[in-house]
Amino acid sequence: MDDCIIIGAGPAGLTAAIYLARYHLSVRLFDCGSSRAALIPRTHNHAGYPGGITGPDLLARMREQAASFGVVSEMCRVTALEPGEDAFRVACDDREWRARTVLLATGVVNHRPKGMAETLHDEALAHGMLRYCPICDGYEVTDKRVGVIGTGDHGMREALFLRSYTADVTLIAPERHELDAECEAALDKAGVARVEGPCGDYAIAGHRLSVTTAQGPMTFDSVYPALGSTIRSDLAIAAGADAKDGGCLIVDDHMQTSVPGLFAAGDVVLGLDQISNAMGQAGVASTTIRNHLNEQTPLRR
Ligand SMILES: Cc1cc2nc3c(=O)[nH]c(=O)nc-3n(C[C@H](O)[C@H](O)[C@H](O)COP(=O)(O)OP(=O)(O)OC[C@H]3O[C@@H](n4cnc5c(N)ncnc54)[C@H](O)[C@@H]3O)c2cc1C
Repeated sequence: MDDCIIIGAGPAGLTAAIYLARYHLSVRLFDCGSSRAALIPRTHNHAGYPGGITGPDLLARMREQAASFGVVSEMCRVTALEPGEDAFRVACDDREWRARTVLLATGVVNHRPKGMAETLHDEALAHGMLRYCPICDGYEVTDKRVGVIGTGDHGMREALFLRSYTADVTLIAPERHELDAECEAALDKAGVARVEGPCGDYAIAGHRLSVTTAQGPMTFDSVYPALGSTIRSDLAIAAGADAKDGGCLIVDDHMQTSVPGLFAAGDVVLGLDQISNAMGQAGVASTTIRNHLNEQTPLRR
């Protein structure tokens, strides 16, 4: 029986693992190898790293730190999570573990542009021609030519957010634009251009990404897909946890879900999608877990 099982080894899960192990608790950390942080070519807004740090480097440092305090890692995809009388059951297919508490830090998966080949996607991402997080890297596209693939309220909000970095923003419809009069007025006021889709035939053209639209091929310094995400909260929801309409888990001020003993942190809770938020929430969750377990075992043996 572990004190805590953490599902997810991104910034949230790894931060919690470090905290919990340093509270002298036994921690088992599950990872299926798909942290969004692993996709970050170089973050420049994560405090403490002048010049930035790559996502894989940051994760490697955190894994090393967690291991140095005795965190046990399991490289497998958790397929079931069930609350029981006195413990949670966690399974990876036919293998099972039990824990007194569970922290879910499974993050989200961004929806990618339809029809974009994986190799091209990864190359464009590595060179900043494709970006997913304006909060993180809008600064890097200051005064650049930017395309946003999206429509509706979500596409409009992303385009307007980026408009505060550059005057050259184009909102590209994935298929056909679905913009109400209010959205259109807001985009017009900000001078955001719009082109109809369907968009596709992506190609790297020098330092730019070329996108074919209804108006023919267009090139951009950076393209931001604003196509939504899949929130990886299904394990917790199946275990009885409440979630918002979009799928983000509902937690109290201490990061506990509606299931006692089941906590959550990071992107799976809040759509801000920031490393600092994931780490902060993990610090709160792990300290609450410690306090909860400490009521049962207050003294060090
Ligand atoms: C291209 C890009 C650039 C970004 N740049 C920045 C930036 O500069 N600054 C910034 O603050 N943020 C940035 N972000 C956002 C940042 O990556 C996320 O906010 C952060 O990774 C969230 O951490 P997390 O721990 O909640 O989730 P994640 O990092 O996504 O980790 C989720 C973990 O859960 C695991 N997992 C999921 N399901 C299961 C399962 N069933 N069983 C076992 N393991 C499972 C995954 O393997 C992974 O380890 C960027 C994101 C992208 C995509």
